[in-house]
Amino acid sequence: MVVGDVTTGTDVLVIGAGPAGYVAAIRAGQLDLDVTLVEKDAYGGACLNHGCIPSKALITATDVAHEAGNAEEMGIHADPAVDLAKMVDWKDGVVDQLTGGVEKLCKANGVNLLEGTATFDGENTARISHSGEGQGSESIEFEHAIVATGSRPIEIPGFEYGDEPVLDSKQALALDSVPDSLVVVGAGYIGMELASVFAKLGTDVTVIEMLDGILPGYDDDLKRPVKQRATDLGIEFHFGYTASEWYDHGDGIRVEAEPAEQAAADGGQAEAVEAEPLELDAEHVLVAVGREPVSDTLDLEAVGVETDDRGFIETDSRARTNVDHVFAVGDVAGEPMLAHKGSMEGQVAAEVIAGEPAAIDYQAMPAAIFTDPEIATAGMTESEAADAGFETIVGKFPFRASGRALTTGDADGFVKIVADESEGYVLGAQIVGPEASELIAELGLAIELGATVEDVAATVHTHPTLSESVMEAAENALGHAIHTLNR
Ligand SMILES: Cc1cc2nc3c(=O)[nH]c(=O)nc-3n(C[C@H](O)[C@H](O)[C@H](O)COP(=O)(O)OP(=O)(O)OC[C@H]3O[C@@H](n4cnc5c(N)ncnc54)[C@H](O)[C@@H]3O)c2cc1C
Repeated sequence: MVVGDVTTGTDVLVIGAGPAGYVAAIRAGQLDLDVTLVEKDAYGGACLNHGCIPSKALITATDVAHEAGNAEEMGIHADPAVDLAKMVDWKDGVVDQLTGGVEKLCKANGVNLLEGTATFDGENTARISHSGEGQGSESIEFEHAIVATGSRPIEIPGFEYGDEPVLDSKQALALDSVPDSLVVVGAGYIGMELASVFAKLGTDVTVIEMLDGILPGYDDDLKRPVKQRATDLGIEFHFGYTASEWYDHGDGIRVEAEPAEQAAADGGQAEAVEAEPLELDAEHVLVAVGREPVSDTLDLEAVGVETDDRGFIETDSRARTNVDHVFAVGDVAGEPMLAHKGSMEGQVAAEVIAGEPAAIDYQAMPAAIFTDPEIATAGMTESEAADAGFETIVGKFPFRASGRALTTGDADGFVKIVADESEGYVLGAQIVGPEASELIAELGLAIELGATVEDVAATVHTHPTLSESVMEAAENALGHAIHTLNR
């Protein structure tokens, strides 16, 4: 059927059904707005289909295999064999369950679902192009629009994603056999998470990074255990290098890399920067050098919405763009490009459209990376708090002093809490170690509620748990930790 030029109307048009868009649509539906959600590909966006969920599924599965095969100390002798195709099937099952759930939730909340690609046509109209069976296009009139078109992996010259041995993160997560060798370009969180997955599956992994260390933007003491464990897994690093080209030499590919002109300092963890060009042989090369906003395919000019010079749509604290009736949420609206940040912005946009006094508070925004060990942060670091004019007190608790961490066989890392010296308010927290991504939630809540380190220290925590480490770090900030020396 060709849909033709029928025009329909909606209060709220949401473009993109990732965690920012579908959450905005559901919230708008809950608020009794007439809402239409357009998606060109798959419900759940990058997060559910080829990002957060599939990567965490594979991280968990490879951890199970790796831990079982490395538990001699606990008296377990095992040599697990991994069937990657089956593992990927299991991961796909998890994804299908979640994406199906999104569709059902949208329908249950009265959201009209449209499959197609949206582009703006005018100040209050968009064109939806359908492909496949319903080929053709239709026009839709909206009172408000929420742009939630997300981001895509950045391509670098010489490494086009269509070329078979060159993988983006989505393709890497869909491999059905374990490569013997893999070059990963980029030591950001996606590169590091996937490097660990493949190293644990037995792949020889080499990471090339332009900067002088892993995970730019994170403090040295948080990165140190991650770098150490990656090295223990056999991952080889070359810092200060830019990948320049690859070619097929008949028995795999060779990746060439040049010394980066200037390996920018990323706050320390300086590694010796080599000077000779590199040649690395591998079966695949995974390019994970960052993501860019999908804002150039929308005809934003037709509606008058502006972007910054990187293509991100600029918004205020209510997710509103420079055009009053158009909102932007999620990755397309800028850093941090994280699913939960997009979902929060989506909820706020829907509430603002419904006339509620909602606004976004980025102060307690957590971030987690699922490297081995995990890193998680919320609020300010010690130096950010100092830059903001606070006199601070800091409490730290190492997992090697935690009974629970020792019983899991995973006791690297620490919990660190930064608090305001005069009032004791928790300003920020950084954790590296087991379950850091879960433990950070308590400290995010503390920041959100304006709790003090005394509050955290006085909260009785279950024994033996990893979360006791949070309480101990708070006690350490106050100078009366029980299980560490208060120095
Ligand atoms: C490998 C990987 C691992 C990640 N891990 C994490 C993690 O652990 N935690 C975390 O918080 N974040 C993680 N992320 C980031 C997270 O996936 C994104 O921040 C999140 O998906 C952004 O949500 P979004 O709704 O803004 O955009 P997206 O999820 O990108 O969704 C945008 C949607 O819009 C659709 N679309 C685009 N243009 C149009 C159009 N014109 N018309 C109709 N539809 C359109 C797209 O098809 C897509 O479905 C990861 C990302 C990757 C790639």
